[in-house]
Amino acid sequence: MLRLGHVILGCALLLVMLLSGRVTDAFAARITLDPGHSRQSPGAVGCSGRLEYTYNLELAQVLQATLQAAGMQVRLTTAQNPAPSLSQRAAAAEGSKLLVSVHHDSVQPQFVARSQRGVCSDKAAGYSLFVSSRNPAYLQSLEYAVRLAKALKARGHSPSLHHAEAITGEGRTLLSRELGIYQYDGLRVLQTKEAPAVLLEAAVIVHREDERKAAGQEFKESVAAALLEALQEGTRCSGTCQLPTAHRQTELRPLLPSVTMPRQQAEGGAGGAGHRR
Ligand SMILES: [Zn+2]
Repeated sequence: MLRLGHVILGCALLLVMLLSGRVTDAFAARITLDPGHSRQSPGAVGCSGRLEYTYNLELAQVLQATLQAAGMQVRLTTAQNPAPSLSQRAAAAEGSKLLVSVHHDSVQPQFVARSQRGVCSDKAAGYSLFVSSRNPAYLQSLEYAVRLAKALKARGHSPSLHHAEAITGEGRTLLSRELGIYQYDGLRVLQTKEAPAVLLEAAVIVHREDERKAAGQEFKESVAAALLEALQEGTRCSGTCQLPTAHRQTELRPLLPSVTMPRQQAEGGAGGAGHRR
């Protein structure tokens, strides 16, 4: 039986939580950002000789600042440990609305030429987005990838399709040629059961011009604005934001005719420059 005393106590507790900000925190979208690689294992090498890890970290910091300024909670997978394992990165997404793994891209070794400082190639430029059917929230991951790709394209970013080429180390399943979204089940960080997850290769740093752009603040802020737009669109329905599956598939079908079910994919090595993500 509900007594007046219980109601008053409940209201008082709610008031205390509101005043302390805990209710606001509980409903704020929590996003996990994963700056790929580490100082010890820095990933790809850019045309200028700068390392991928540096680009990932700098972009993740701008993404973090932008999302936080919009009132979102942001957790970095590297907050406690600067070099977490891939499974630790995946586990850090617990309770998050989305995990975004931040990387910068390369091409296969036969397409690069050594420069004085790094390795350069004109083979590919632009962003790529990856989702994994091994993530239980595959369709939700794909929805976020679609939103992010659209927001990136609206800001003048172009997708790179080089990961779909039928050569050793590539051959990824291209879900949308228009949006540059791939399904790739070999990326362990995307296999988290904790949250929907996407991996962004923001630019190809062996490409001289793409690397020059990626180094600039304007590029980072543009990617951050695109991510914010993609997330805000996703938070309009607040809370878990679960659309009925039928609705989602109908919505996606005109854009991605082949993605109503995840495709079966053979296990392969890592893509891009062969580094693990
Ligand atoms: Zn990487």
